[in-house]
Amino acid sequence: MILIDGKKIAAELREELKQEVSELKTKYNKVPGLTVILIGDMAPSQIYVRNKEKSANEVGLKSEVIKYPDTVDEKTILEKIKELNDDESISGILVQLPLPKHIDKQKVIETITPSKDVDGFHPMNVGNLSSGYESSVPCTPLGCYLMIKKIEPNLSGKKAVVVGRSNLNGKPMTQLLLKENCTVTITHSRTKDLKAECLEADIIVAAVGIPELVKGDWVKKDAIVIDVGINKTDNGLVGDVAFDEVSKNAKALTPVPGGVGPMTIACLLKNTIDCFKRAQI
Ligand code: NAP
Repeated sequence: MILIDGKKIAAELREELKQEVSELKTKYNKVPGLTVILIGDMAPSQIYVRNKEKSANEVGLKSEVIKYPDTVDEKTILEKIKELNDDESISGILVQLPLPKHIDKQKVIETITPSKDVDGFHPMNVGNLSSGYESSVPCTPLGCYLMIKKIEPNLSGKKAVVVGRSNLNGKPMTQLLLKENCTVTITHSRTKDLKAECLEADIIVAAVGIPELVKGDWVKKDAIVIDVGINKTDNGLVGDVAFDEVSKNAKALTPVPGGVGPMTIACLLKNTIDCFKRAQI
């Protein structure tokens, strides 16, 4: 079985991006800029943002974090986003989620101009992805996609099952696999026989949030299995896939941690650079 080493693949991607940033700097005499807005002091968000900033600096991006207390009003955030939309030195804007309850998440997402929406959450980018046009793609499914392509460059005709239909993971993952000519089944909490669906799959992407939901006897021999889940349990962090059981059948499998997670941040950097490049045309 191939253990898909997300840390290693992400490090290789960051190295390629670093090279690309250096070439862009020579060509345009400027580098892509990423601005992250962080509201409140929730520990996980602080850690994510710190890691994003560190990785952005590592590849040579101009990076900035703007912090607000969780009492900040919605108008202040929307005005700051509009100011960043108009700032030519900023290629990508990300507002770290979740937001305090008094701030409307959808309004925030829709205020970021689609050309700087590095999270790929703006309805315009969602629509472009599902229409098969160029767009920013949400970072986690993009990372999954790049890992799958490392294992199997030609996905045409493969049967893929995506477990979970969130806007963040399941739906964009489905679109990426469709674009590669997979036959995709998207499953969710009302799916009647999830095991039977998974057993059909050459590729399984599990993005559910239930510890070890996908069992060894749900996976056909030689399937590629990508585990997006991050679940805290008494036994530590586990994914949505029963790793030990599934590793006996799968051709390739991502570990948790060290699989999808590191790719998510690397893909944020990639999206920032892609936004910069599109803006130069
Ligand atoms: P979410 O928004 O809660 O969506 C979960 C999806 O799973 C829903 O579509 C839900 O179906 C489906 N589901 C729930 N129970 C199910 C069941 N028994 N069988 C089949 N499907 C079921 O979650 P998310 O934001 O996509 O996140 C999923 C997991 O990925 C979480 O563990 C999260 O922490 C992790 N995550 C990891 C990364 C990373 O970088 N590695 C990034 C983001 C998220 P319904 O639609 O019918 O409710």
